[in-house]
Amino acid sequence: MMQQYLALKAQHPDILLFYRMGDFYELFYDDAKKASRLLDISLTKRGKSAGTAIPMAGVPYHAAENYLARLVQMGESVAICEQIGDPATSKGPVERQVVRIVTPGTLSDEALLNERQDNCLAAVYHDGERFGFGILDVSTGRFVINQFEQEETLIAELQRTQPAELLYPEGFAWFGLIEQRKGLRRRPEWEFDLGTARHLLCQQFGTRDLVGFGVEQSTTALCAAGCLLQYVKDTQRTALPHINSVRLERRQDMVIMDAATRRNLELTLNLSGTVENTLAEVLDGTATPMGSRLLKRWIHQPSRNKNELSQRQDIIATLMEGGHHEELHPLLRQVGDVERVLARLALRSARPRDLSRLRAALQAQPDIQAVLTNAQAECLMPLAQQISDFPELAELLEAAVVDTPPVVIRDGGVIRDGYNAELDELRELAAGAHRYLEELEARERAATGISTLKVAYNKVHGFYIDVSRANSHLVPVHYVRRQTLKNNERYIIPELKEYEDKVLNAQSKGLALEKRLYEALLDRLLEHLAPLQQSAAALARLDVLANLAERAESLNYCRPELTDDEVIDIEEGRHPVVEQVMTDPFIANPLSLSDERKMLVITGPNMGGKSTYMRQTALIVLLAYMGSFVPAQSARIGRVDRIFTRIGASDDLASGRSTFMVEMTETANILNNASRHSLVLMDEIGRGTSTYDGLALAWACADALANRLHAYTLFATHYFELTGLAALWPAVANVHLDAVEHGDTIAFMHAVQEGAASRSYGLQVAALAGVPRPVLTLARQKLAELESGRNVSAPKPAAEPQGSLPLFDEPVNPALELLDGLNPDDLTPRQALEQLYRLKQARSEG
Ligand code: ADP
Repeated sequence: MMQQYLALKAQHPDILLFYRMGDFYELFYDDAKKASRLLDISLTKRGKSAGTAIPMAGVPYHAAENYLARLVQMGESVAICEQIGDPATSKGPVERQVVRIVTPGTLSDEALLNERQDNCLAAVYHDGERFGFGILDVSTGRFVINQFEQEETLIAELQRTQPAELLYPEGFAWFGLIEQRKGLRRRPEWEFDLGTARHLLCQQFGTRDLVGFGVEQSTTALCAAGCLLQYVKDTQRTALPHINSVRLERRQDMVIMDAATRRNLELTLNLSGTVENTLAEVLDGTATPMGSRLLKRWIHQPSRNKNELSQRQDIIATLMEGGHHEELHPLLRQVGDVERVLARLALRSARPRDLSRLRAALQAQPDIQAVLTNAQAECLMPLAQQISDFPELAELLEAAVVDTPPVVIRDGGVIRDGYNAELDELRELAAGAHRYLEELEARERAATGISTLKVAYNKVHGFYIDVSRANSHLVPVHYVRRQTLKNNERYIIPELKEYEDKVLNAQSKGLALEKRLYEALLDRLLEHLAPLQQSAAALARLDVLANLAERAESLNYCRPELTDDEVIDIEEGRHPVVEQVMTDPFIANPLSLSDERKMLVITGPNMGGKSTYMRQTALIVLLAYMGSFVPAQSARIGRVDRIFTRIGASDDLASGRSTFMVEMTETANILNNASRHSLVLMDEIGRGTSTYDGLALAWACADALANRLHAYTLFATHYFELTGLAALWPAVANVHLDAVEHGDTIAFMHAVQEGAASRSYGLQVAALAGVPRPVLTLARQKLAELESGRNVSAPKPAAEPQGSLPLFDEPVNPALELLDGLNPDDLTPRQALEQLYRLKQARSEG
C-alpha cells in the first residue's frame, strides 16, 4: 500500500496528498507533519519503513471540507486521492486515483468560497516586451485576459483582481513584483507556449481559431490564457463546459486607477484591510451573491463606454421611477447564486440543493420577465430578452427533486416519488418490508410471550431479534444466537434473513438507481448550459442595477450628465461613505473645474475637510463612470481617463520604502502618466522632507500638473505660499475649507469657499487635540514673532512675472530660536549651564 502511496505522491510532490483509507483521508511523512502543524491535528505513526515509523496524520472524510477550507485559506493546495476499486473484490490494495486537486484559485465548492467575493486564478507572463495577464474563475466560468507594458499596471491589476492563486513561468524576470503574494505557483515555461495555448483554447471552445473572441492578436495575453486553462484542466480533471469563451479587456475602455488609488479611495477594502466604511459597503444591497460580486467588479473597473453607461443610467432611472426595484428584490433573492450553481453543474459536482436552488431561480424568472415587460420601457427590453424562460427545465426539476433535498446524494431521498416508476417500486418494496418487520415483531411477541422483544437493525449484523437477558430462556429453539451483550441477547431466524436480503437489496438497488437518475438529470440540464449561463449573467446585471436604483432613491443620489465638454461640475456634492457614518449632518459642497479652471489649490485647517472633499470628488466621478447615480444635487462630468491619488502618508514597511519614498514614487507615476482628462488628487505633497525641499517639490509638481499636463487637479496643501499660484497661472484657483475661531478653540464649518484660507489654525487644532497649555502658550509667542519678522502666513501678491514665488526667505538664526524657547525661571543652575553650551554651539552653526 505504501508503494501505491509513494507512486501517487511522486506525481504531486509539492502539494499535500489526502489519501483515502476507509473513513479517513490520511497524510504521511512530511505532509503529515505539515498538516498537523497547520491544522492542529495529532501526528501519529504507522508501521515501519526501513526501520523507522512513518509519520501519519488524518482527517475524517465527512469533515474533510472544513479542513480543506482552512488549508486553502492558508494558500495550500491538496490532491484528493479516492478509492476507485471495490475493496471487497480487489486483490492487494484497492485501486486509488487522484480525482481532483483543490487549490485556492480553482475552488467551486460552496463551503470553500466566500459567496460575495470573486475567487479567481491568475497567470502572468512576459515576452520581453510586454506583460500578458489573465484571470480565470472556475466557480463561474469567467475568463478575461489583457496585456500591457508597465510594471505599475501589473501591480494595479493584481490589486484589482486579488487572485487567490497566481501562476508565473519559471525564470520570470519580474519576480520581484509578485514575490510578496500568497498562492504563488511556478509553472514550466512550455505551459506558456503560444502554439499550445491556441490549440488548447480552440479545443476548449470548440472553434477553429480565436478570431471570434477578438483575442487573436493579443499573443502575450494568450500565453497566460493557455497556462490558466492547462492548470485548471490538471486540477479539475473533468470537462469544463462552462468555460466557453475568453474576453479581452482593453485598458482604454476603462477609467484606469493604480494600486495606490484603489487603496486610498477605500473602494472594497478600507485602509486597515476590512470591509467596514468602504464604498462597496454603502452601495451593496444586492439581492444575490452574484450581483454583489459583479457590483464590486464595476466599482473596481469603471467603464468609459458611453453607450454602456447611458444604458445603465436609463435602466436605473426607469426602475426607480416605476418603483420596480422593490418588486424585483424578493424575486432576485429567490434567484440566488445561479452563476456558481451552474458552474458546479458543469463540473458535475452540483449538490442536490444546487438543483433545488436552480429550480427556485427558474421559477422566479417568468415573474422577473413580467416585471420587466410590464414596465414597457425600451431600455429594459434587452435584459428581458436575455433572461430566458426555461419552463420545461423548471417542470423537470419540480417533478424530479423533492422540496427540500438532503445535502448529499449519498443516502438518497433526493428524487421525488412519482418521477420514476422503477424507483417507486423499489422504495415500496423496502417500505413494504419494513411493515412486514413490524408485523413480525408483533407476532413473535405474542408467540414467545416476551413483551419487550424487538426487531432491530444495525449495519454490522443486519436485522436481528433483541431479547433481554432475563427473558432469554423463553426464546424458541429455532432462534439462532448472533450476539451476546451485557443485558441483551440478539438472535436471527431464517425468515428474518430472507427479508433482510429483500429490504437491503431493494434499498441498495434504489440508491444506485437514484444516483443514475441524478446523473441523467445533470445531463439534461447541461444541454441548456450556455443559455442558462447567459440568463444568469443578465440576472446578475439586473440585480446590480436594481440595487443601484434602490440606493439612488434611499440615499438621494442624482443622475450625472456625462459630457464630452472639458468640465467637472458638481453641485452640493457629498462623500458617499462619510455621510453615512456621521451622526452630524454632512455639509454638501460644490466643485467646479473646467478648461479654464483646471486646478484647485485647497487650503484650510487640519480636520477642516480637505481630504473628504477631494475623495468625494473622485468617488463621484467613479460612481458616474460605473453608470451609477451620484451623491450630489447635480453633476456634469466630462471625459475622464484615469483617477490618480496621492493621499495620506503610510510607510510601506513591507517593501522597505519610507513614507517619503512612497510619496515620491506615487508622484512620479502621476507625473509620468496623467493626461488632460485625468483627475488627480494631491494631498499634502512634500510633507515627508524638509520645509524647503517639500515646498520646492510641491511647487514644481503643481507647475507640471497645471501648465504641462493640464490635468483636473485638486491640490491640498499646508504650504500657504502655493496659494499665490492662482495669481500666476490662469488655470489655477484657490478654494478653502471654512473654520470659525472662538478664542482658543475653533469650529470647523466644512464648507468650501472660493479664495485662500487666511490662516492655518494649527495651534487651535493642537489645542483640540489636547496638547498641554504651556506648550501652546510658547508656540503662540513663537508664532507671533515669526509672523512679525517674516510674514510667513500671508501670501504676498504676485508682483513677479511667471513662475517665481517669494518662497525662500533667509532662515532664522537657530541660536535665537533656542533663546526664544527658554524660560530662565524654570531652569535649575545645571540646566542653565547646559543651555548656555547649546546656545554657543547653535550660534556657531547659525
Ligand atoms: P482634513 O483633510 O482637512 O484634515 P478631513 O477631510 O480628514 O480633514 O475631515 C476631518 C473630519 O471632518 C472628517 O472625518 C469628518 O468627520 C468631518 N468632515 C469632513 N468634511 C465634512 C463635511 N463636508 N461635512 C461634515 N463633516 C465633514
